[in-house]
Amino acid sequence: MPKLALADIPQRSLQGKTVLVRVDYNVPLDDDQQVADDTRIRATLPTLEYLVEGGARVVLLSHLGRPKGRRVPELSLRPAARCLAGLLDAKVDFVGSTLGDKAEDAIDALGDGAVLILENTRFLPGEESNDPALAESLAEMAGIYVNDAFGAAHRAHASTEGVARAMTSQGKPAAAGKLMQRELDYLGGALSEPARPFVAILGGAKISGKIDVIRALLPRVDRLLVGGAMANTFFRAMGLETGMSLVEEDRVSLAAELLDSSGDKLVLPEDVVVAETLAAGVTTLTVARDAIPRDKTAGDIGSRTAAAFASRIGTAKTVLWNGPMGVFELPPFAAGTFAVAEAMGEATRRGATTIVGGGDSAAALAAMHPPPEMSHISTGGGASLEFLEGKELPGVAALSDRPSPGHV
Ligand code: ADP
Ligand code: MG
Repeated sequence: MPKLALADIPQRSLQGKTVLVRVDYNVPLDDDQQVADDTRIRATLPTLEYLVEGGARVVLLSHLGRPKGRRVPELSLRPAARCLAGLLDAKVDFVGSTLGDKAEDAIDALGDGAVLILENTRFLPGEESNDPALAESLAEMAGIYVNDAFGAAHRAHASTEGVARAMTSQGKPAAAGKLMQRELDYLGGALSEPARPFVAILGGAKISGKIDVIRALLPRVDRLLVGGAMANTFFRAMGLETGMSLVEEDRVSLAAELLDSSGDKLVLPEDVVVAETLAAGVTTLTVARDAIPRDKTAGDIGSRTAAAFASRIGTAKTVLWNGPMGVFELPPFAAGTFAVAEAMGEATRRGATTIVGGGDSAAALAAMHPPPEMSHISTGGGASLEFLEGKELPGVAALSDRPSPGHV
């Protein structure tokens, strides 16, 4: 069932309305308590600008870190508020409470088109336990709820799932924000109606966290390219020597099953970059996958593989990438990841839909100069994986259903 989107709520109907917006401002802070990376804050600007321009009174909720239901001053959202104030053309205030008189007074004092950030939702014990009373209190604050926190949508917490349910049961709308909608459109589009050929590239450290993604993607893609340490477990399943490489022993039989059932869809590296250890400045060697020395560890896909992957990406109309091809954090093992990213940038330029999910993959892109252009870089690591597994995200499921045309 399609969900109500913020775009379904006309801007002119927002004047003077109090709108509660769940954002994902779980941002890294530096030693001086400044926001070290404002990507997630910038990503919410389309939603906030729509609301501010419409004259809404905007109340923001977010979590930050893991304070586990207690007030932890270092995890205050005040730095995020300061950061937002520099990015948004509106009055942005912060109040050091999430609920209660202080929060209510601050909401009452909000002018039309102004923004107020409440304190970290995870300072409240009821947030992660999805306490219905907390959800109810949050829902009382506003006439409209908007969830723009895709990165938190896979968690059924009071400020994501609970409050949306409470709103709809009070007869008030709960809508997907612009960022949330963008994430659902790109990821959902790739799953349901991808332009073909559809090529997925999976990498990263572990096969275990991504098995369900492999399973869900295999029937939908034309090719699934595998790199990263995940490839080692497949090599082991093929009976190859993997030396000192990271292998998940308890997933070898599963890897064998996937190889058996996937036909020629699953494409593994032909060659890999090996070294004595995975460290900066080590001497590396590129070897065929059946020639990994016993005393060496694989840290990246080799140049032949990188070229083969780039050429598959080069003819694809939809490309979905999750997980680095190697230990890109270390220069000797970064080339494979950067080559895949460059090929995707090229694909974007010629009109393919290119989607990147996963925190480390996004970090690899950000480390490039200039970062290659992508159609969409997901802001949610865990959430994008769960979505690609085909799971319903609780924070999305609880939103209002979209009225069928004719009822709008
Ligand atoms: P994402 O966050 O994009 O989903 P993951 O968290 O699954 O990606 O994996 C990222 C990590 O995988 C990186 O820190 C990278 O160093 C590591 N990695 C990739 N290839 C290898 C390898 N061959 N051996 C060890 N670690 C690897
Ligand atoms: Mg990661």
